[in-house]
Amino acid sequence: MWHLNTIGIGVTLKESRLFKCQSCHRAYRNKRSLSRHIQKECGVPPTLQCSFCSYVGRYNHCITLHMRKKHARELSLSNYC
Ligand SMILES: [Zn+2]
Ligand SMILES: [Zn+2]
Repeated sequence: MWHLNTIGIGVTLKESRLFKCQSCHRAYRNKRSLSRHIQKECGVPPTLQCSFCSYVGRYNHCITLHMRKKHARELSLSNYC
């Protein structure tokens, strides 16, 4: 079983060179990618929700695009009311 342990140590050393996110354990090869992930992806929860269904988007334009694609009928109906 000794050779198995050696392989395990090798993997650990390789992984430690990556920059890991503390919240979701995603790994990045450089620090800039990690900090961009933390600021724009990980630290920002998807809080915007579609008013017609349970679709949740991170950005306003995602919701607008989704509503235009999926709820074109509902949107036109609500305009007439
Ligand atoms: Zn993360
Ligand atoms: Zn929707």
